[in-house]
Amino acid sequence: MDDRTFRNAMGKFATGVTVVTTEFQGEAKGMTANAFMSVSLDPKLVVVSIGHKARMHDIVKQTGKFAVNILRRDQEELSRLFAGQLKEERPVSFDWVNGHPILPEALANILCNVHSTYVAGDHTLYFGEVTDILMKDEPGDPLLFFEGKYWSIGQ
Ligand code: FAD
Ligand code: NAD
Repeated sequence: MDDRTFRNAMGKFATGVTVVTTEFQGEAKGMTANAFMSVSLDPKLVVVSIGHKARMHDIVKQTGKFAVNILRRDQEELSRLFAGQLKEERPVSFDWVNGHPILPEALANILCNVHSTYVAGDHTLYFGEVTDILMKDEPGDPLLFFEGKYWSIGQ
């Protein structure tokens, strides 16, 4: 089977969009990821799947912690930035919470310590034990990803 067929099929599964962030050598680093899932309530675990070619893979391996920032619908540009799809670098302001850089306007920030990892093909699953959660009081719609494009609810 060719890669395009696989990606087209996986693209039929509509997801939200997250930016996985961590602190590395005193700086914030981020990577766009939609391979994110809630795993367990007791203990509270989530998982993100990170490709071995992504710099974030080695970084999270070293830092042992990450935050998952669930993007709101007006944050498509941040998704493109942290996927390396913008031509120019641009500054991003992070808030810092318990040593984690987080995106303050995200729908939710889920702070984790790496609980365990599982190498699966060309990706590694990073299971995170959740240590803190921040959420906005006001409601907000998520940024969605479907068929390789960004969408919002009701579109
Ligand atoms: P880099 O190339 O180092 O960083 C990515 C970009 O973020 C660069 O442009 C960099 O300048 C910018 N950046 C990083 N930190 C900062 C900062 N502090 N301030 C400003 N800019 C900064 N890949 C996966 O492995 N798993 C997934 O689940 C996944 N889901 C994706 C979902 C979508 C919708 C998209 C578009 C891409 C997805 N990707 C996923 C691909 C992944 O986002 C890219 O391959 C990414 O570029 C890999 O990043 P990297 O760790 O190599 O980081
Ligand atoms: P696309 O058509 O490549 O993505 C559709 C779906 O295919 C994604 O939602 C994901 O489920 C799957 N997918 C894509 N690339 C994958 C990979 N390398 N490993 C495992 N699953 C993958 O959408 P696009 O707009 O062309 O994507 C932009 C870029 O972001 C591409 O380079 C793509 O590879 C990357 N991406 C990677 C992942 C991932 O690693 N899990 C997920 C989404 C997008």
